[in-house]
Amino acid sequence: MITCEEFFAEFGDYLENRVSPEVRKELELHLSQCRACRVLYDSSRKTVKIVTESSSFELPESVYNPIIDRVMAKLRIGQN
Ligand SMILES: [Zn+2]
Repeated sequence: MITCEEFFAEFGDYLENRVSPEVRKELELHLSQCRACRVLYDSSRKTVKIVTESSSFELPESVYNPIIDRVMAKLRIGQN
């Protein structure tokens, strides 16, 4: 299984449906087995929905990067 770091590396593209079917499968497998990433995914998807419904279909990195940073910080704390 891929690691959380690998998941996050593809996460932005996954949210924007820009990953290959193989990568998508890996990411969804990770999502099904990693609670931390699933929470991140759910909250990010909500954020994306709000952003796309309110003004534009652009998803600026400033929207989801802070979320990812926060979750990554939590993961690092959990691992120590
Ligand atoms: Zn994970």
